[in-house]
Amino acid sequence: MPIKHIYSFEEGNANEKDLLGGKGANLAEMTRLGFPVPQGFTISTKTCLLFYEEGKKFPHGLAEELTEAVKNLEEKTGKKFGDQENPLLVSVRSGAKISMPGMMDTVLNLGLNDRTVEVLAKKSGNPRFAYDAYRRFVQMFGDVVLDIDHHNFESVITAKKAEKGVQNDTDLTVEDWQDVVSQFKLIVKNETGVDFPEEPREQLEKAITAVFNSWQIPRAVKYREIHNIPHDLGTAVNVQTMVFGNLGDTSGTGVCFTRNPMNGKKNIFGDFLINAQGEDVVAGIRTPREITELEDEMPEIYKTLEETCEKLENHYREMQDIEFTIEDGNFYMLQTRSGKRTAHAAVKIAVDMMHEGLISKEEAVMRVEPKCLDQLLHPTLDPNEKKDVIAKGVPASPGAACGKVVFTADDAVKHNEVGQKVILVRHETSPEDIHGMHVSEGILTACGGKASHAAVVARGMGTPCVSGATEIVVNPKAGKFTVGETVINEGDVITLDGSTGEVILGTCSTIDAKLSDELLELLEWADEFGELTVRTNADTPRDASKAREFGAQGIGLCRTEHMFFGDDRINIVREMILAKSTEEREKALEKLLPMQRQDFEEIFEVMDGLPVTIRLLDPPLHEFLPEKNSDIEEFANVFNLTFEQAKDRVKSMEEVNPMLGYRGVRILVTCPEILKMQGRAIIEAALAVQKKGIKVLPEIMIPLVGRKKEFDISKEGLEEVIAEVFAETGEKVNYKIGTMIELPRACMVAHKIAEKADFFSFGTNDLTQMSFGYSRDDVARFLPQYIELGILENDPFEILDQEGVGPLIETAVKKGRGVKSDLKISVCGEHGGDPSSVEFFQKNNFDVISCSPFRVPLARVAAAQATIMLKK
Ligand code: PEP
Ligand code: MG
Repeated sequence: MPIKHIYSFEEGNANEKDLLGGKGANLAEMTRLGFPVPQGFTISTKTCLLFYEEGKKFPHGLAEELTEAVKNLEEKTGKKFGDQENPLLVSVRSGAKISMPGMMDTVLNLGLNDRTVEVLAKKSGNPRFAYDAYRRFVQMFGDVVLDIDHHNFESVITAKKAEKGVQNDTDLTVEDWQDVVSQFKLIVKNETGVDFPEEPREQLEKAITAVFNSWQIPRAVKYREIHNIPHDLGTAVNVQTMVFGNLGDTSGTGVCFTRNPMNGKKNIFGDFLINAQGEDVVAGIRTPREITELEDEMPEIYKTLEETCEKLENHYREMQDIEFTIEDGNFYMLQTRSGKRTAHAAVKIAVDMMHEGLISKEEAVMRVEPKCLDQLLHPTLDPNEKKDVIAKGVPASPGAACGKVVFTADDAVKHNEVGQKVILVRHETSPEDIHGMHVSEGILTACGGKASHAAVVARGMGTPCVSGATEIVVNPKAGKFTVGETVINEGDVITLDGSTGEVILGTCSTIDAKLSDELLELLEWADEFGELTVRTNADTPRDASKAREFGAQGIGLCRTEHMFFGDDRINIVREMILAKSTEEREKALEKLLPMQRQDFEEIFEVMDGLPVTIRLLDPPLHEFLPEKNSDIEEFANVFNLTFEQAKDRVKSMEEVNPMLGYRGVRILVTCPEILKMQGRAIIEAALAVQKKGIKVLPEIMIPLVGRKKEFDISKEGLEEVIAEVFAETGEKVNYKIGTMIELPRACMVAHKIAEKADFFSFGTNDLTQMSFGYSRDDVARFLPQYIELGILENDPFEILDQEGVGPLIETAVKKGRGVKSDLKISVCGEHGGDPSSVEFFQKNNFDVISCSPFRVPLARVAAAQATIMLKK
C-alpha cells in the first residue's frame, strides 16, 4: 500500500504525535472536539524522514497528495490559492513529536503575491495591513526558504523609518510598505538570481521543503542533543488557513498558560496584544499586555478563553500552553500543548489536579520529573536578575551560592570564622579540603566531572558546586584565577549556579527553598508506590538529620574517612599512618578510638530506629598527608622531624595510581588494627546509644573487595573484636557485616563473596571507574569531547552505563542471590540518585538505593516511578 503523507485535521487525534508531531496531533484533537481551529492539514513526520532518504526531495506521491489536500482545503474554506475574490492564505509551521520551541522554521501569510495582496487590501478595508502582511511574508520567505541573511531585510526597514523620521514599524504607511516590498523583492533577485515566486503552489512546496530542512539546522540538532531528543524523529509540517490578529482593534492575538507556570496557581497566565500577529507577542517587538486585561478590553472573548482553558484542561488533564487569535471579533485556537513549568509549579499542579479529581495519585507521581526536584531543595538564583556569566562548568551540585573567592580550605575556614561567605576555588579538591568545603557557600573547580571528589562531597553537603570549569586557570600562589582576559582576585565576589554550571561575576540575589506542603504530600504518595527503600549517603549528624527530614529510611553509606580530617585528629591519623610498628600504630589508634565512637554515637542517635551502614576506611593513606610545604613544615614540627625527613616520609607514601593502589580492604587486612579500632568504635557506640533507649541497627561494610578471602579475613577480624566488646560490656547488639561490590572482579566472583556477606552494596562510582578505566577525578578533560563526538551518550558517572557496567551488576546480583536468596542488595554510588539508573536497580530487584541527602526526595519519586513503569 502506498504511504499516506498528508492528514487533514479531521483525520488525526492527540495520540498520533509520532506521526503528526505534537502540534499536528493537538490541532487534530481540537478539531475533533469542536474547538474553533482554522482548517488545515499535516504532512507526517514519516514523510520528513523519506524526504531525507530521497536526498532532500519530495518523496513519491507527496506532490499528488498535496494537490488533493489543497483542493480539499479550498473546498472547505471557500477560498482558493491565488484567487481574485477570496484568496487562500496559509501558515506553514514545523512540529516535531517533542516540542522544540523556536528551533525550526515557520512561514506565515503564504499565498500572498502582487495580485492577492490587493484583494486582501480591499476585503479587509485596510491596505496598510495587507501590505504589512505581504512584506512580512516576503521577509520570512526570504530568510527561511531562500536563506537570505535577515539583516538585508531589516536594514531596508530601518532605512525607511529613518527616511520618514519615525520610530516604530506601526508608524509606516501603506505606501512605505509597498516600497519596502519592492525593495525586498530586489534583494531576493540579487541574492538568488531569480524572481520572488508569485505562484502560491510554488511558494508552498518551497516552504514545506524549508521546514523539512530545518530539522537538520545546527540549532535544532544542538537542542536535541541537549534535551536528549532522538535525531530520527523528523518533523511534521502543518499547513493551516491564516487568521489575522492584525485586522484592527477588534482583532488580536495571545499566548497563555491555563495555570501559572511559575508557581502552579490555578489562574490563566499570559500575554496578549490587540491588532497584532502571533510573532509580535513572542518576539518582544511590542510590549504585550497582561492577559487579565483582555477581560476589560473584550469581555466576551475573555469568557470564551476561560471556557476554552477549562475545557482543554478537563480534556487533556494537564496544564496547557495555548496560542489564540482573534480575527475581527472571532476567537480561534492555533495551538495547545502541555506547558513547560518550574519544578515548584510541576509539583503543585500534579497535587492540585489529583485533588480536583482530574488525575489519579499514580498519575500525579508520574507527572513530576524527579530531576527537577533538586531545584526545590536548594536556594536558587532569582531568574529576573541580569547575570555576568564568565565561565561554564559541569553543574555538579545544584543551588546558587555567592561569596568571596578563596583558594585554600584553611582560608575558607578563616573567613568563615569571621562571618564571611566564601566560594572555594580549586584546580581540584581532595579529601584534605573537606573542612574548607564544609564552610564554603559554594565550590568551583577547574577539573573533575559530576562524580569527582568535589562534586560528590558537595552534593552530600548540599553545597552548590560547579566542577570541571575547564576555561578557568587557578593560580592560588598569585591569589587569583583567570578566564581568558578576566582576572578574579582573592576576595572578589562571585556567584555559582550549581544547577546550570554558570560562574557569574558579582552577587546575585537568591530565593530560599523549603519543602512545600504539596511536595510533602506528593512524596507520601510516592512512598505508597515505590518498592525500593531510599537511604542516604551521610557522614555527619547534620547531613543525616537533613536526609531524615527529606524522608531517608536509613544511611546506606557513611564514609568514615571524612571523619579523619578534623583539626583535632588529622595529626593522630598521620601518626597512625607513619607508625613504624604495630605498637606505635595501636597507640595512635587508641587516641582515635574515642573520637570515632563519638562520631558514630551522634549519627546513631539521629538515625534512631533506622539502619546505618558504616564503611571502613577506603582511600589511599597518602591522602591524609600534607601536600604544601607550609603544611609539611607544621607536620615536621608536630612529629619532631626535620623538614627533609618529613618530606621523605610523605613522598614514601606516594603512589603512581593511588586509586588502584593501597586502599580499602587492602589496608584493612594488612593493618588489622585499623579495622579493629573502627569495628570497636562502631559497636561500642551502638551499645552506648542502645542503653539510652535508642534503636540502633549497625551495618559494617568493607570497601573494595575483589577476592573472597579479603572479605572473609576482614569479617573474622571484626567478629573477634565485636566478641571482645560484648564480653567486656556484657551487652549485645544486632549487627550485619557486608561488602561493597565495586570491582569488576568482585562481580564475577560474587557467589563466593556472598557466602559470608550479609549484604552487597554496589559502589557504582568505582565500578564505573574500574570498568571504563576512566579516572573519575580526571574524566572532565575528555568527557565533553567524547559526548560531542558521540562516543559516549552521557556521563557514565552520572547515568549508569547499562550496556557495559549493567551486565556486571546483573551478574553479581544473580550470583550473589544464587547462593543466598535473601541477600540484601543496595547501591550507594552516585547513580542511586539518578532516575534512569534507579529504574535499572528496580529491574534487578535491588532492595535499597542510597544517595546524597538532597537527592532523597528525587530518589523517592524515581523509585515510585520505576515501580509503576515496570508494573505496566
Ligand atoms: C563508589 O565507589 O561507588 C562508592 C560509593 O564509594 P566512593 O565513592 O567513596 O569511592
Ligand atoms: Mg568506592
